[in-house]
Amino acid sequence: MRYQKLRGTEDIISPQIEVWQEIENISRGVFEVSGYKEIKTPIIEFLQLFQRSIGENTDIVEKEIFKFQDRSERKIALRPEATASIVRAYLECGLYQNPGLTKLYYLGPMFRAERPQKGRKRQFYQVGIEAIGSLNPEIDAEVIYLVKKLLDNLGVDDFRIEINSLGCDNDKIKISNYLKDKISENLDQFCQNCQNRFERNVLRILDCKNPDCKSCLKNLQIDIKSIICSDCMQHYKEVKLLLTVLGVKYKENEYLVRGLDYYTRTVFEVLNSDLGAQNVICAGGRYDNLVEEMGGKSTGAVGFALGMERIVMLLENKSRKNIELDVFLVLQDRMFLKEALKELMNLRENGIYADMDYQGRSLKSQMRLANEKKARYVLILGQKEWEQGEFCLKDMKTGSQINIKKEKLLEFVS
Ligand code: ATP
Ligand code: MG
Repeated sequence: MRYQKLRGTEDIISPQIEVWQEIENISRGVFEVSGYKEIKTPIIEFLQLFQRSIGENTDIVEKEIFKFQDRSERKIALRPEATASIVRAYLECGLYQNPGLTKLYYLGPMFRAERPQKGRKRQFYQVGIEAIGSLNPEIDAEVIYLVKKLLDNLGVDDFRIEINSLGCDNDKIKISNYLKDKISENLDQFCQNCQNRFERNVLRILDCKNPDCKSCLKNLQIDIKSIICSDCMQHYKEVKLLLTVLGVKYKENEYLVRGLDYYTRTVFEVLNSDLGAQNVICAGGRYDNLVEEMGGKSTGAVGFALGMERIVMLLENKSRKNIELDVFLVLQDRMFLKEALKELMNLRENGIYADMDYQGRSLKSQMRLANEKKARYVLILGQKEWEQGEFCLKDMKTGSQINIKKEKLLEFVS
């Protein structure tokens, strides 16, 4: 019986895995130097955690959560995103007791029951950060700066940062009422999706991708900025000023809203023009009410999540350097096995990438395998050399072959 993977899931193998590892390593570097500590939260959580935080009337909660009942009939979900889990952990682990801000980063799989397509999977991976503990605009600016820094360091050269402010909770209610007023008489001109959203989550009509809906909004002369309170406007202004100070280019998009209910004030997305329909590579914003809603003190917070599959798609075509195999050990006779194994481990211990044949091949096949594996050197353990305390070393680039004293080997191949 042969099995196949589930739709919307992937086996990630070499050489692609090297791109993934590079993204992980570069992300860790950028975040750690900025004071962010890694957090690993469980992949399963109580369903309610996501229903409450992301919002009942959102695509994620309505359609996309993988959920099941455990043996005690508790409702469990595979996490569709990390922010809710991280806020839960922030409270449950008492991270608010640490001095200063709580700065966290994560890397890991998320799950959403979506229609699988390029850049849209059912198990997909995100890397992201959360900075919990401040309402100040400087942390919004830092978080957005770090997105840019990360993409720069990864070598993603074509991206655009769009930002907007949704205002505080009060403003969001006012915006929703304003939109309902404005749109209700013309609702039939909007797409079916928007008509469904009208009652349940009218804000989402703002970022409908349908061109007809877009032009309807334009014709209705929707102006959100006039509704947002002066404190929130001031905050937004300062975020923009600080982004400019940090040299982060951005574009304001007053129709940008996110698909999760917890966002307030600053929201942003990073887009790439090469990716077609799945063109948002990263998204984030503030969620100043979430900690309190989950039972903590009122606490400002901001973060982002970056979709790793979409970054891999952008980086795949760039040439990456593969780790090279330094030495391949070849045994003239199986009687050298013990010595070969010891030498193999010794080389590795000294940071040399060394390997050998484990399948009892003939001398000729071992040489062929070394060639196929693109080894830089082949180390031959043979009777004649052995008697003189030497190895025979073949340089696979030049084809030249020398005898080398065992003590000198490390120095030579390093
Ligand atoms: P989209 O509009 O593409 O559905 P989203 O608004 O649902 O994205 P978020 O929940 O904000 O996305 O997640 C942040 C990032 O995670 C997205 O910008 C995207 O890069 C990535 N992402 C989201 N869903 C998927 C998925 N199903 N497969 C792969 N990547 C995804
Ligand atoms: Mg989505």
